[in-house]
Amino acid sequence: MKILVANIGSTSLKWRLFDFSNNAERLLHKGGFERVADFPKAIEDSLAQLKDAGALANESELAAVGFKTVIAKNITGCVRLDEGVLGAMAAYSGLAPAHNPPYLTGIRLFGKRMPGVPLVGLFETAFYQFAPEAMMRYAVPQAWHDIGIRRWGFHGASHKFIAERSAEMLGRNDVAERVRKLYIDGGKTPVTGTPLRVISCHLGGSSSITGILNGVAIGTSMGMSPQSGLPQNNRVGDLDAEAIPYAVKNLGITIEEAQRQLTKESGLKGISGVSNDIRDVSTAAEQGNANARLALDVYIASARHWIGSYFFELGGADAIVFTAGIGENRAELRDAICANLADLGIELDSALNVSTRATETIISKSSSRVKVLVIPTNEELVVARETKRLLENSRN
Ligand code: AMP
Repeated sequence: MKILVANIGSTSLKWRLFDFSNNAERLLHKGGFERVADFPKAIEDSLAQLKDAGALANESELAAVGFKTVIAKNITGCVRLDEGVLGAMAAYSGLAPAHNPPYLTGIRLFGKRMPGVPLVGLFETAFYQFAPEAMMRYAVPQAWHDIGIRRWGFHGASHKFIAERSAEMLGRNDVAERVRKLYIDGGKTPVTGTPLRVISCHLGGSSSITGILNGVAIGTSMGMSPQSGLPQNNRVGDLDAEAIPYAVKNLGITIEEAQRQLTKESGLKGISGVSNDIRDVSTAAEQGNANARLALDVYIASARHWIGSYFFELGGADAIVFTAGIGENRAELRDAICANLADLGIELDSALNVSTRATETIISKSSSRVKVLVIPTNEELVVARETKRLLENSRN
């Protein structure tokens, strides 16, 4: 069974083609285009690349195309992308303005190009559907809540991958199995061992931290939109609700301009004044740029804030996992985030921390009560697995 996973940005198309034949999971091909102006052409070119590489003879070979869709009104989980679902995504475009509109365009174009192939979406909100309401509710009037102003949580595919893979690495196949069946039985698969408490840190261009108990999310740092939680590459992250009306009045800007500045000119870029890429910010900090140093410190403080929140909520942790571009590659940030926590049972092994090269590694000391892991994430594989499961279940 071949499943294509298409990752759609406002000007990019990336893909991975998986083959699930003979009970194996094989990545057959991956590629992508940046600065896409003509989307139908990009789809054509991606199919041509897949064919040239010998990964696909014809698009009719595809069992489905899976998408890491973000958010839809009253719909989550893994679903067939029919007009009803697309309408529900359009209804919540305002909650994910950078993501939903390009996905809607892209999905419709894929549908037009290959009408016989099922299109499936795994929503980024899916991993949080079983989180306690008290962790997801904002203290807003009911009418606000009713139009979708609540914590939804994002990066669900990544945190689900980490929930499953960390359980496997810690020898907890009971929990890994629970994660695999999460969207089938809603986390009812029994756990045979002691409660497994994991704090998953997806630190990248966009960052979020999720508390996970026995494979099920109990809360996450991102809220109603991906514009919340930790400072992001060029997005602000958490901000006081009074800040926007205050800035509009005192800086003489429109709400739209305030929004633009908070999504394009803030975060690491806003504080450092250097770049939205942590590599550049780190280099500038090493060269003595105080604003760049401050940007890193704000990021580190925020990561510690959220880890601390879930550490307390979970009553401790068995593992803290670092993943995504920053989490997998920036030893000095992992070190700073885990500094001075020996009293909480968190002790990094500096040599292991520095030597790991974005591969699965335990980077804590053997004496550390809390294991600290680096696990490269694989969001596309999660989308492909859930798409496969949906197809199989709808056949039965
Ligand atoms: P992501 O959104 O997961 O691709 O992560 C992007 C962020 O991770 C950027 O701030 C990059 O500077 C950082 N990053 C990605 N790859 C590397 C790498 N190989 N070495 C250091 N930093 C990296």
